Amino acid sequence: MPIVRVALDIPLATLFDYTVADDIAVAIGQRVIVPFGRRQMVGVVMECVATTDVAPERIKPVVQVLHDSAPLSAELLDLLRFCSDYYRYPIGQTVLSALPTRLRSDKPVISKPILSYRLTASGVALNLDDFPKRKVVQRRILAKLAEQPCNLAQLKALSATVGGQLKALETEGWVESVALTPSHISSVRGEQKHTFDNAHTLTGEQQLAVDAITQAQGYGCFLLHGITGSGKTEVYVHLMHHVLQHGGQVLLLVPEINLTPQLENYFHSRFPDVNLISLHSGLSEGERLHNWQQAQNGVAQIVLGTRLSVFAELSKLALIIVDEEHDSSFKQQDGLRYSARDVAIFRANQRGVAIVLGSATPSLESYHSAQSGRYRMLKLTGRALAEARLPTVRCVNINHTVMHHGISENLLREIGQRIARNEQSLLFINRRGYAPVLMCTSCGWLSDCKNCAGKMVVHLKDQRLRCHHCGYQIRVPHACPDCGNADLHPVGSGTQRVEEVLQERFPDARILRVDRDSTRNKRAWQAMREQIHANEVDILVGTQMLAKGHDFPALTLVGVLNPDSALYSSDFRAAEKLFAQLMQVAGRAGRADKPGEVLIQTEFPDHPLFQALQSHDFEGWAASQLAERQMAGFPPFMFQAMLRAEGMQENEVYRYLHDARTAAVALQHPVEILGVVPASMPRRANHIRAQLLIQAASRKALQQFLRAWQPALDALPAQKLRCGLDIDPLEF
Ligand SMILES: [Zn+2]
Ligand SMILES: [Zn+2]
Repeated sequence: MPIVRVALDIPLATLFDYTVADDIAVAIGQRVIVPFGRRQMVGVVMECVATTDVAPERIKPVVQVLHDSAPLSAELLDLLRFCSDYYRYPIGQTVLSALPTRLRSDKPVISKPILSYRLTASGVALNLDDFPKRKVVQRRILAKLAEQPCNLAQLKALSATVGGQLKALETEGWVESVALTPSHISSVRGEQKHTFDNAHTLTGEQQLAVDAITQAQGYGCFLLHGITGSGKTEVYVHLMHHVLQHGGQVLLLVPEINLTPQLENYFHSRFPDVNLISLHSGLSEGERLHNWQQAQNGVAQIVLGTRLSVFAELSKLALIIVDEEHDSSFKQQDGLRYSARDVAIFRANQRGVAIVLGSATPSLESYHSAQSGRYRMLKLTGRALAEARLPTVRCVNINHTVMHHGISENLLREIGQRIARNEQSLLFINRRGYAPVLMCTSCGWLSDCKNCAGKMVVHLKDQRLRCHHCGYQIRVPHACPDCGNADLHPVGSGTQRVEEVLQERFPDARILRVDRDSTRNKRAWQAMREQIHANEVDILVGTQMLAKGHDFPALTLVGVLNPDSALYSSDFRAAEKLFAQLMQVAGRAGRADKPGEVLIQTEFPDHPLFQALQSHDFEGWAASQLAERQMAGFPPFMFQAMLRAEGMQENEVYRYLHDARTAAVALQHPVEILGVVPASMPRRANHIRAQLLIQAASRKALQQFLRAWQPALDALPAQKLRCGLDIDPLEF
């Protein structure tokens, strides 16, 4: 009887063997249901073999082979094997975590057919001029379908509420849907040429970049370093056009869900009849499976997704683009701690296709690789709109000016001028809530979280103290819990307090706060963006959510409120992150024909970081940072792995790490083994957290060491601990 080796969602670095009855056909990559202990589990067949080490009386048969979804390709399984090995994560958990939730369940999935919508005869006969004006979405759908039949994804680009409106139109008998079979879709594809809205002429630099990438043979990694507003997206559009013409698929990775709807709309507008789908955690399980399968069978031509989509099956993959490649959200921070950018590079190499890493502020890792010739550097140094200029950046020394709860008089004056000119201002502060801590003026009591090493943040609107690390919250006390003093003071400023100060100063101004509290509702952020675009907002107060990739034409002033803590942080990447964030937020100002201005409030106006920012000198800044990293022996000149452990008992956490360290030292590999130290957040949600860092001069030496170390780690008692390796860690 043939034997299959199956990947299961079990925290063991092994596959599990099962027999298959002779009359059942089973292929590698297929999902199967197998008995495991007393339950049944779904797994993926990784290998078919003739013999096994398992004793004949102990090996069990496969219960069922699932034919509800096409088998995973050998290419994807190879990619997952690589990830499991590189990130030191069990193979079964790696494979299963890459699948949409529905494919991880032991129930067969029922795939929805892909529907195409078209007008009925009575729909064609409708005169849109007589159609009620208030039914905006229905009008848009009818107009779109009058041009051509569309699938749901294409119609969704018209409006978020398109589903209900389509039903209404179907009920009226004006619109009907037909199910497309995959063969139907591919034959349609073969005949059709896609429509390409080529409205923009490329600049010389953009054209050079497009040519370099499209002319590359096989694998090539390109770093597209373009200042904000230089038109990286236009380069992406032309690259996509090229790939689509040749029948290939494009995978575009973006750092966060919030950016996907607007990008989806944008690419739809440029490629109106191309099948574009998105993959991210904001989709329902059904939608995600549906989209995943469209990517798998090649029907989806452009796949736009967050980090998890790097594991999407793409049968015709011909190009990968990683936008904002420096963004730390490409790194998963638990479970399989992969970097989607790095996995994407491996994937492009495996497939023999080009990959483009785009950024205005590349990570120092990528920048160094481009300088040393491993990647190819492509630069966009001019803004795409000739009249758009880079913003002027100025520092305000907060020690020499009047401050109003964290906002300087200079900044308030500038905001007043913008309001008078009907232009928008943005105040950037990386702290949500009202104030970061509540203090007793009499005894010095501070609002510590009882579960964490952090402080509870004052949320004045709902009268609560809330820990942003563990979620613990209590009512704001009326008096000090220690001494009974009623005079408690919020110290420092968060977004809510800034909003309050601004409202007092500018009572008639329309102020919009954008942070995780105000955008908790899925639709809220979309509605806010529309308000901003319609110029219904005078002042925006926001966290880093606002820094990323949004284009606000009326915005001419950006105020940065408290960037100083990152300048002297113990995290060696803090300055790199701050520079990228400030460049990005500065790039929001003055994108259209209005010049922008950025005011940075700081105690250290002469700091090299602000100097580099004022002269828009990424190159100079990167060179000085890289020199520092080389001196100090940090990445990208060293390669790191972090063993993390956390648990309720301090002695257990430290004993585990010390034993792991002893085992590491005994291996005598050419790696640097640092000491066991507390994590930067040493206690979170009542768990003690500590870590052990390993460094090596090459990736290979590090990987060899990790493989040798693994058996010792597996043998250490760690039942009550959460522990795991983090390769190429970003958080310390
Ligand atoms: Zn007190
Ligand atoms: Zn807490």
